Parts: sequence; C-alpha cells; structure tokens
Amino acid sequence: MAAVEQQRRVVTAIPGPRSQELQARRLATVSAGVGTGLPVYVERAGGGILVDVDGNQLIDFGSGIAVTTVGASNPRVVEAVQRQVRDFTHTCFMVTPYEEYLAVCEKLARLTPGDHDKRSALFNSGAEAVENAVKIARVYTGRSAVVTFDHAYHGRTNLTMALTAKSMPYKQGFGPFAGEVYRAPMAYPYRWRGAADDVAREAFEAFAGQVHTQVGEQNVAAVVIEPIQGEGGFIVPPAGWLQLIADWCHKHGALLVADEIQTGFCRTGDWFACDHEGVVPDLITTAKGIAGGLPLAAVTGRADVMNAVHPGGLGGTFGGNPVACVAALAAIETMEAEDLPARARAIEELFTTRLRRLAESFDVIGDVRGRGAMLAIEFVRGGGDTTPNPELTAAVNQHCHREGLVTLTAGTYGNVLRFLPPLSISDDLLNEGLDILERAFVTHA
Ligand SMILES: *Cc1c(COP(=O)(O)O)cnc(C)c1O
Repeated sequence: MAAVEQQRRVVTAIPGPRSQELQARRLATVSAGVGTGLPVYVERAGGGILVDVDGNQLIDFGSGIAVTTVGASNPRVVEAVQRQVRDFTHTCFMVTPYEEYLAVCEKLARLTPGDHDKRSALFNSGAEAVENAVKIARVYTGRSAVVTFDHAYHGRTNLTMALTAKSMPYKQGFGPFAGEVYRAPMAYPYRWRGAADDVAREAFEAFAGQVHTQVGEQNVAAVVIEPIQGEGGFIVPPAGWLQLIADWCHKHGALLVADEIQTGFCRTGDWFACDHEGVVPDLITTAKGIAGGLPLAAVTGRADVMNAVHPGGLGGTFGGNPVACVAALAAIETMEAEDLPARARAIEELFTTRLRRLAESFDVIGDVRGRGAMLAIEFVRGGGDTTPNPELTAAVNQHCHREGLVTLTAGTYGNVLRFLPPLSISDDLLNEGLDILERAFVTHA
C-alpha cells in the first residue's frame, strides 16, 4: 500500500459523519470509563498524518501519546512484523524462548544510561514495567518504602495508581491503594515558591527532609522518578536536581528508578532524558516509543539488582511477545539509522522559537517548556495572574482539533497543552500545525 500522503485535508466537520456513526456504536458497546480526547476514527496513519474514516487528514502532534516516534506505519516495522507473524506469533518466553527477546535486551543494555553490566525483563505495558521495577527493588534491598513525587504519573494498576499523584480521573473511587508509597515535592520551576535560581537545592532539601521525618532513609527501597514529568504537565526539573536525588539514593542504599516510559527512545533529543544530565539510574522503565506502536515494555538495570529475584518471580504470558520484539528492533534500527535524537533536537528548535514568540504576544502563556519533541505551554489567567487556566486550554485544544490538528492536554490542573509529534513528521506539517495553534490564540485568548 502507498505511503500516507503528507498533507492536511479537512473535508467534513470534525468529527465527520462516519466518525459520529462509529461514536454512537461505541457508546453502546465500550465502557464509558475509557475516555477519548478526539472521537475521530482512524483508518490509516503514517509520517505526521492520521487519515480518518471520513477522508480527513489530520496533522499528528500526539503520536498516540509518545508511542509512534518512528511513525505509525514505519516501513521497517511493518516489514519486520509481517515476517514475524508468518513465522510465529507466540510461544510464551517462559515456556519455550526465542532469540528476538534476547536481541531486544541486548539493545536495551547498550542504549540505556551507564556502561555497567545490565539485565532486562520484558512486559506489555508501562504500568506493568513500573510495578515490576518496584518488586525488583524491594527484593534487592529488603525494604518496602517507595518515594514518588507531586504531579507524577506511573500508570493505572493498583500499585502504580498509588505512585500516580492526580486523583481525578486516575484514582477517584479506585482505592484502597497499595501501601508504603510516599510523596515528595517536585522541583517544578514555574510554580516553585522559593527563589528561582535555587529550585534544585530547595526541592532536594524538601525531599530529603520529608523522607527523613516521614519514612526513614533506611526503609526506602526505591525513589521512582520521571526525569521529565509527562502527564503531570511536561515539568522539566532544574539542572542538578536529578543528580542530587541520585546521590541521595546512593548514599542511603535506595535504588533510583527512572521512569522513562514517555521520555525514552529519542523523544527528548537524546536516547533517554537521564542522558542530558549524565545521571545513571539503577533501574530504568521503558515502553511507549520502544516498538513503533506495538505493546512492549521493559525494566533494565544493574545485573546484581535484576538477578536478585528468584526464578519465576518475574514474567507474564505475553511479556516480550515476539511480534512486539521485532517491531522494537526495527524501530531502534530506524532511530539509529536516521539519527532520531538529532531530529528531536531540530523539532525542539523549530517549536520553541515559535512558541516563545507566541508567548510574547499572549500573556496567558505562563510557561513554554520541554525538551526535544516533548514540548508544552502552560496556560494561566494572564496579566501577572498565574492561576491555572484550564478553560482556555480546552478551548485552544478543541480549536486545533476542529482545524485538523491533533493536540493533547496534560497537567495536574488541566492547563497544559503538550506537543509530541512523531519524529517522522516534516517541517512543513510542523509549521502548518503551529500556524493553526497561533490562529487558535487569536480567536480564543
Ligand atoms: C504512560 C506512562 C506510564 C504507563 O504506561 P502504560 O503503557 O499506559 O501502562 C507510566 N509512566 C509514564 C511516565 C508514562 O508516561
């Protein structure tokens, strides 16, 4: 089949009549608990374009939440998957193993931060990876407490709900939650109350003080951290903060678990967000962008830590499915061959130039932030009032949708518009999408 034409085209109202028909069908069959940002039903996708069932072609600034980094129909991934499904779809690695799983673990050992001896285990989803990282840390340390941060997002299973900060919609009504999870203040430069140039130190001291008094250092198995927070609103902590936390973990025998599920695999302009600061975590969780859209997740880390678990303690029926593994190998090959970290840095340059200019014209943009192709604007009331402005965020987001630009919101206060384009998108489509965003501000701000 021919590649998807890289052109925006809006030929009906969005969502169009066929999407609306499918939406009516959905309401009669899919649980209302599963939310959808934009009920446009997709038929094909690739490069930077989603083609819907009404023939509209939408510019993709979401990548299915940072998943289709190499594109939604990357030729290498498509070819590898087709070949693998012809050979075999599943054996269960815990029953009769296969080489593709090993090859993914070898790539993870080579690409993740640090050149120490590493081992990996593969899973199906990000939440499952985080949950297993905590299991591993508890076995290795013989301790039970886990420290996480304000605005954190680590998933929707019972243990990861406890790690996740935001109540509505992720936790509301779903308790009781797993125990021994403690929350520390996040180094959130835009909303930090203290001195702007001292956020890293002040936030670290708040973390260390709180853990000392409320948990006890000797009880901490792991500190679980997103080096750049995702769902919490693309919060980039100040330089140095992550290293302070890493040093604290080292000093007190706790493990640093970097949750790079959203930031990993070239998204932030390097292979992993920890790389920007030279921080080497003990364990790292990956998922989302790892496999060109197929479900795969991993925990990778120090061999002594990963091997502390008794045989049979880790696993799952589908974990490291061979089709997902070959997709990951093809996606990683693409990232290396096409130097996608550099592409993410070029996207950062293009975006931040235009977003900063926009922020000069509209004081409702309180902050422009992010790294690589993981960028966001935070909406406030304006005129010096930094109160979150979720209403305007929603209006701008919906304006973009109507014009055929897929954008996503985020943030504890629902006041962040985030941009996660596939790295396979052209500059022309990026600029056209940003033109739409500018017009949304002219109309609504
Ligand atoms: C998406 C995400 C998760 C959860 O991944 P799922 O595959 O949805 O379970 C965990 N951590 C971070 C940082 C994420 O962005």
